[in-house]
Amino acid sequence: MGKSVENRIPETGGHQSAQYRCVGIGVGPANLSLASLLYGRSETPNLFLDQREQFGWHDNQQIPGAALQVSLLKDLVLLSDPTNGFSFLSYLHEQGKIYHFINAQYEAVPRREFRNYLEWASRRNENIVFGEKVLAVEFDRSFVVHTNRRSVTTDNICVGVGTRPWVPEQARDKLGDTQFHVSDFTAETHVDLDGKRVAVVGGGQSGAEAFLDLISRPPKELPRRVTWISRRGNYFPIDDSPFTNEYYMPSYSEYFSGLDKAVRESLNNRNVLSSDGISASTLRDIYQRCYEHRFIAGAHDLLALLPNRGVTDVTGNESGGWTIKMGHNDRPGVIEHVDVDAIVWATGFRPASTDFLAPIESRLEREGDEYRIDQDFAVQWDGPRDRLIFMQNAARGQRGLADPNLSLTAWRSRRILDRLLGVGSNEQLPSFVEWSAKPPADELDAL
Ligand SMILES: Cc1cc2nc3c(=O)[nH]c(=O)nc-3n(C[C@H](O)[C@H](O)[C@H](O)COP(=O)(O)OP(=O)(O)OC[C@H]3O[C@@H](n4cnc5c(N)ncnc54)[C@H](O)[C@@H]3O)c2cc1C
Repeated sequence: MGKSVENRIPETGGHQSAQYRCVGIGVGPANLSLASLLYGRSETPNLFLDQREQFGWHDNQQIPGAALQVSLLKDLVLLSDPTNGFSFLSYLHEQGKIYHFINAQYEAVPRREFRNYLEWASRRNENIVFGEKVLAVEFDRSFVVHTNRRSVTTDNICVGVGTRPWVPEQARDKLGDTQFHVSDFTAETHVDLDGKRVAVVGGGQSGAEAFLDLISRPPKELPRRVTWISRRGNYFPIDDSPFTNEYYMPSYSEYFSGLDKAVRESLNNRNVLSSDGISASTLRDIYQRCYEHRFIAGAHDLLALLPNRGVTDVTGNESGGWTIKMGHNDRPGVIEHVDVDAIVWATGFRPASTDFLAPIESRLEREGDEYRIDQDFAVQWDGPRDRLIFMQNAARGQRGLADPNLSLTAWRSRRILDRLLGVGSNEQLPSFVEWSAKPPADELDAL
């Protein structure tokens, strides 16, 4: 292995500045991408703060075998700056394992390896500081960012606080060691599931990975029964085909942002499986495991597959477990129930709190649940035009399904960087598909 494993890019910025040009709040992939693009630009002093004590990326959900659902080229920087030293390939190369990675012939990057890459990028950048929670942002000609440790001033801020786990109403007051969100799946905080009756609720990739993990355990660690409940009509795959992937290009994001709100909402609903479906390889593994348990090992009672049902209620039962009640989508009024010992809620994530914006909240424009952003992801507000609040991964309604995804991370950061620097970068060529309507000139005049 090369001896440069711990090499840092030479310091040019540092995190001791009287006035920053940009302070990033949160260090997940979104702001880590911007921090990487800003790295080495001493004319743009920057600081990125995260409340965690050290870097993490879905660390309690690093289920063995889980893989990235996007191309490895969709890393922090490559799609907007292929020569940048913070790319996934730079990581592999610096670690001395690039040949091995090629020889391993992964269909998709193991999620843990991508997590390790992200951590590596955060360690190399001394403008990133962990263990500082942003508590409040005030504005007095500049932004004043108050953390649990200090206050710093900056011309601009970039909010990248990501998402937090979400469970339905029925579960909220019952979470504990026998009911937990899938984001805690590999944590040691819940009961051992071997020999138990376990339900996984949620038919997306996270639910699929939890279900697969539970039914793949060695015989002594297998649950007694694993039930997989999904509101979706079946266990649907992610659509990763070429034209669907055009939704995850900058030019589509631009087109989408110009549509009426109702049309945007409808498109996000209709195309949700292009981002939230299950990887084909995960579905195949699950199906094969079902075959093996039922037809080869003769374990007829191990699995229950219950799609097309919505959980309506969860109550404690006499045996100390839980009774889940479900409505069937095709049989309104028919209620089924299943008794279990533990429930894994794979019911998704919602935007994390931005309460720290409370001191300036009334000055920011909103569109529904989101802050209204402009073409460069800057919130529209009544402050000076050269003092900006950028929002990363917080505009799914305005920018489409790609916004919370890794696909446009590098491009969005580039947009933000360009605005900070007052420059414009060349865009890649537009989609093959002509998304916009092009009415004849006489009809245009009438519009
Ligand atoms: C298990 C899992 C796998 C995924 N895999 C893929 C995939 O394969 N492909 C894909 O495209 N997308 C994937 N996603 C979706 C998306 O890429 C990730 O959710 C990604 O982490 C979003 O990045 P982010 O930077 O916006 O937010 P996050 O990663 O959530 O990071 C936000 C950070 O902000 C910090 N923070 C929050 N509040 C404060 C505060 N007040 N002060 C300081 N710090 C704060 C948090 O500690 C956190 O570190 C996955 C999501 C999950 C849950």
